[in-house]
Amino acid sequence: MEGDRGKPFPLALTRRSFVGAAGASLLAGAAAGQAVPEVPNRAVGRPDPTGIPPEPLPDDRQLGFAVVGLGKLALSEIVDAFGVTRRARLAALVSGSRDKARRVAAQYGVPEDALYGYDDFDRIADDPRIDVVYIVLPNSLHREFTVRALRAGKHVLCEKPLATSVEDCRAMIDAAQAAGRKLMTAYRCQFEPHNLTAMRMLRRRELGDLRIVSADIGRSTDPRDPADQWRLDRELAGSGSLFDIGIYAVNAARFLTNEEPVEVRAQLYAAPGDERFREVEDVVAWQMRFPGGVLFNGSTSYSYAFTNSIQVIGTGGVMNIDPAIEYHATRLRVRAGGQDRVMQWSPIDQFAREMDHFCQAITDDVPIVADGEEGLQDVRLMLAILEAGRTGRPVATDWGYRRTADPATSVPDGLGVA
Ligand code: NAD
Repeated sequence: MEGDRGKPFPLALTRRSFVGAAGASLLAGAAAGQAVPEVPNRAVGRPDPTGIPPEPLPDDRQLGFAVVGLGKLALSEIVDAFGVTRRARLAALVSGSRDKARRVAAQYGVPEDALYGYDDFDRIADDPRIDVVYIVLPNSLHREFTVRALRAGKHVLCEKPLATSVEDCRAMIDAAQAAGRKLMTAYRCQFEPHNLTAMRMLRRRELGDLRIVSADIGRSTDPRDPADQWRLDRELAGSGSLFDIGIYAVNAARFLTNEEPVEVRAQLYAAPGDERFREVEDVVAWQMRFPGGVLFNGSTSYSYAFTNSIQVIGTGGVMNIDPAIEYHATRLRVRAGGQDRVMQWSPIDQFAREMDHFCQAITDDVPIVADGEEGLQDVRLMLAILEAGRTGRPVATDWGYRRTADPATSVPDGLGVA
């Protein structure tokens, strides 16, 4: 079986609604590309306005990616995404298990001499097939492998959170600068049509003046799952629910308002005796105050039922993105201007969009929508939220950061601007 443009396509696609979570997909049963059945409530069936993928490049001009860490996310989403990317191709695999790497390589057409281990990873410097390294390792390993990849002369796309401390993020940004290479934080939701459409409606003030943004994004961890074992280990994860999944709420509050919070307050909770939370936080409930007057209310957890819901309330309307962060089933409802619209388009591959955007940033030198500074800003804010939770006191966050590229307008041509 072939993917589009003759790329090798996996024999067994293992699409899931969200890694490590059992969220029911609203689109269950709808194959990619097929029309999604209209939802009741005056559904709007217009085509996805952000659905134009970038101009494809011939295979020999596509950038070669090495995927580092063949865990859940890499195997369930990222390697498949190369089946639909237009500027990125899978060139190499980096894994601690040679057997696993060989099995994946056979399925995706990666040659044996493009398989690397963590120990001989630096040899990628001599491999011209690799332009970009995509880091999909536990959080506290992001810094080491990002810096090694940059020193090897490669560009780096790094999974969220960028790192587990401000110092690590800064070292990664500095290493990119020193190497003259690009660093991007893998914030896929900024390439997702419903989230992008929400941003663009808000920039057009379709809800009037914004008052409240709220988000509840969390799930329950399972200590028997190896992908959750490191998440409950402070040394590997850096922190708990906030850094892993609450980060989406922090990031969305910023990209929806297009402002940076000036103050945060928070409370923390873990049920007494729950062994999962000896090292990392469970529930975090927090507020952020934005300079334009918007208040954000959010929660995240590693023990509550899987939910990922965002609400924006303005003087002239209400918007819900729910689910907000799923891989293949997001939905946007907007009640404003006397209309009640529900928008739900066929899923697109957010990872493919994100990788294609990074390729455009590299080859055409367009601004990166989520660069290293963006990753650092969220890490700084999350650390401030945890400090506010620990001390019970508000923490000022008005350190003057401004993003260089607003995704609502900077997602480049070809990714479509509504
Ligand atoms: P995972 O545990 O399934 O995969 C991690 C991989 O790293 C495994 O292959 C594991 O063998 C390898 N590894 C190397 N050294 C390790 C060590 N010392 N301890 C444990 N594993 C080690 O985790 P995942 O869910 O794939 O997450 C990987 C990264 O991707 C994390 O940073 C996570 O935040 C991020 N992530 C992002 C999204 C998204 O939607 N963007 C979704 C899930 C995960």
